[in-house]
This record gives sequence, structure tokens and C-alpha cells, in this order.
Amino acid sequence: MQVPVDVGMAPTEYVRRFEEVEWPVFDVCPICGAHARLQGHGSYSRNSLPDRETELVTPIHRLRCPVCHRTVSLLPSFLLPFFQHTARFVVKSLLGKVKSYRELLRFHWRRFLANANRVLAFLRDLDMRERLPEDGKERAMKLLGSIETSGLEMFSMLFQKHYHRGFMADSSYLPQKPE
Ligand SMILES: [Zn+2]
Repeated sequence: MQVPVDVGMAPTEYVRRFEEVEWPVFDVCPICGAHARLQGHGSYSRNSLPDRETELVTPIHRLRCPVCHRTVSLLPSFLLPFFQHTARFVVKSLLGKVKSYRELLRFHWRRFLANANRVLAFLRDLDMRERLPEDGKERAMKLLGSIETSGLEMFSMLFQKHYHRGFMADSSYLPQKPE
């Protein structure tokens, strides 16, 4: 299971200062619900891509439940589950503010549009009152703008905590519990 965590750092700083990160304490296992403190269980590395030129080998902190023995990965909030590109890159490139690649951008658009209704519902919950255009793409641009101004990483993390999936998740994928 991947649990998003606000590390309060941008990707490069996080990589550099990984050893100093203060991880949240879990006294209840998010997988099995046991009242038991999760213990540190090392880390693994994955790639993250904050822009077109940068590839960061990014350590992911892992915890383990002493009851069910499953592991929980603490995903820094700048990352999206199952995506190498950061949440910021994805949103900024959809908004046309940073350069992406044609195929990648197309893929990101498909994913975002498939999640647009859920994103809208969540933004409404967060108190977005604006009226939105009917047109799919125009509407999507408004939503992306709201994500950006509401604090991109924070939005991404809260969305993930609420729906147990990222805002760019494959809509045909339904999370199973436990993973
Ligand atoms: Zn457990």
C-alpha cells in the first residue's frame, strides 16, 4: 500500500535530505487496522521525473506492520502513485506551462479527463464555487488551474487520502483492500 505524506520538500531537496525526513508515526495499520505501531522497513528507490531534463533516483521510505507483516510505502506528496513524472510536472504540462512530449501529454490528457468529474467533486468539497464551462477541455483547464492555486501537492495528497487513488489514476482500476 502507498500512503501519501507531506514531506514539505521539493524533489531534489527530498533526495538530498532523505535521511533527515521526520516520518509520521502510524499506531494503526492502514491495511489490517491492527492497533500496532508500524516499524521502519528500509527503503527502495524509484525514478522520479520533475521535468524533461531531470531524472532523480528517489528513495521511498517503507514501514511494516508487525501484525499482518505487509508493507506500507510512504510516498512523498510530490509523486503520484504509479507515475514517474511528478504531480507538478503533470499539472503544469497540461496547463501548457512546461514542455512535455506529444505522446506523454496525450496520455496525461486522457487520464486527467477520465478523472475530471471526481476532481470537480473534490474541488467542490474544498469549497470551489466557480461556474465551469461545459466544454470538456475548457472545463479541464479550469480544474487544473484550481488544482494549481489550491496548492498542487496538497491537493494531490488530500485527493489520494480521500479516494485511495491518485487524481491521474486509471479509471478502470479499482483499488482492492488490502493491496
Ligand atoms: Zn497490518
